[in-house]
Amino acid sequence: MIIRVSEIPEEGLYLDIKDERREFEYSGINLKLSKPFSGFMTVKRASAKRVIIEGSVKVSLILICSRCLSEFEFEICETFKDEFFPVEDFNYTEKELSKSELDMLFYCKDEIDLSSVYLEKVYLSIPMKPLCKDDCKGICPLCGKNLNEGLCGCDRKSLDPRWAALLDIKEKLIKG
Ligand SMILES: [Zn+2]
Ligand SMILES: [Zn+2]
Repeated sequence: MIIRVSEIPEEGLYLDIKDERREFEYSGINLKLSKPFSGFMTVKRASAKRVIIEGSVKVSLILICSRCLSEFEFEICETFKDEFFPVEDFNYTEKELSKSELDMLFYCKDEIDLSSVYLEKVYLSIPMKPLCKDDCKGICPLCGKNLNEGLCGCDRKSLDPRWAALLDIKEKLIKG
């Protein structure tokens, strides 16, 4: 979905996000989708070369829980509003970057890849440590069983003393 800035009509563009990909790569990470992207975007020119892109995107990703390591579906629904400037016109030496300028986005050679706009939003809203549910019990460090599916019967107290000390602290914290 690449548009040419010089071809954006005066009244702007309204586009539905029609993106059938089932996976995408961002920052070297490969992400799988359980439901495809949907949503819309409007593309307007604020001046000859300044472009404002607004919209809303929805998608479901398949993430891996950071505690129990099982896959789960994670729905993302994000709205966005970005302003783009031609990188060719930007002069870094002209003046110090102000805070608002640090948030500026750039395009080059008259082209903006619209899919990169929502791919970035989706990527940024993925949690650092995804959890399949808030109270995920994780896996047993001894047998590897997913403790959400029930107890395993391991005596986790007879672990490596360093582990045991940690579990002790955790139990005290839980009991208050
Ligand atoms: Zn989990
Ligand atoms: Zn176990």
